[in-house]
Amino acid sequence: MYKGKLAVVTGAFRGIGRACAEKLAESGVKVVINDVYNREQAERVREEIEESGGICDIMMFDVSSYREVEEGFAKIVEKWGNVDYLVNNAGIVDDNLILRMKPESFKKVVDVNLIGAFNCTKQVVRNMVKQKFGVIVNISSIVGLSGNAGQCNYAASKAGIVGFTKSLAKELASKNIRVNAVAPGFIETGMTKKIPAKDRERLVENIPLNRLGKPEDVANVVAFLLSEEASYITGEVISVSGGLHI
Ligand code: NAP
Repeated sequence: MYKGKLAVVTGAFRGIGRACAEKLAESGVKVVINDVYNREQAERVREEIEESGGICDIMMFDVSSYREVEEGFAKIVEKWGNVDYLVNNAGIVDDNLILRMKPESFKKVVDVNLIGAFNCTKQVVRNMVKQKFGVIVNISSIVGLSGNAGQCNYAASKAGIVGFTKSLAKELASKNIRVNAVAPGFIETGMTKKIPAKDRERLVENIPLNRLGKPEDVANVVAFLLSEEASYITGEVISVSGGLHI
């Protein structure tokens, strides 16, 4: 099903991106993992994937820099050929109430989370159209669907991902390119580590399935959306939130 195809996963040195890369590699997909910093961590992820029998390469670039993204994807295509699957996962938070939020903070979060997805998608679509095949999964958030006090920058970027996903799904369906989004709730990663214990307890009480999600919970849905089993699904946003989004 996936075997031999090429996937690029952005922000894949840890958290959800890493789990997606591992899951895809297990299924026989060649995976290029991307991130901005920490070459050592990248090598660790690559080694782990290769030890489990997967094929993995590393491409460092900042998704918010169009020039870096363009150069990075050119190298990927030169070495590996066309990209079949793209997972736009790289994301950051920089929370504050709007009264205290600096314009730079709003821009930085949108630049990485939303413009970053555009920058990467732009590099793969032309070849996907030519080969009449491609699947893109964008990582949004339930915060992009329902908003969250203190996260207007993040929520705006993730709501933007929803519009981006649905528009591309309409634009590219006739070319056999599917585009979907996954909207995680609260997942145990570096991003949610900073939540104080007390707030965390209160949060878990509000989650019908009574726990935070694991990166694998999201990776399983991403892998499904990329697979042929989801071949009649495009333009959807699937929440993976333990029921929090109900
Ligand atoms: P994470 O553990 O912080 O991982 C994010 C990854 O993205 C990191 O590896 C980070 O690199 C990388 N990254 C950040 N800026 C980048 C850039 N400019 N270019 C390339 N890579 C960059 O977060 P996560 O929880 O796995 O989040 C993954 C995605 O899921 C994000 O889009 C996030 O918004 C979304 N999400 C997460 C949750 C959650 O509860 N965790 C909920 C909803 C949605 P460094 O290691 O170098 O910082």
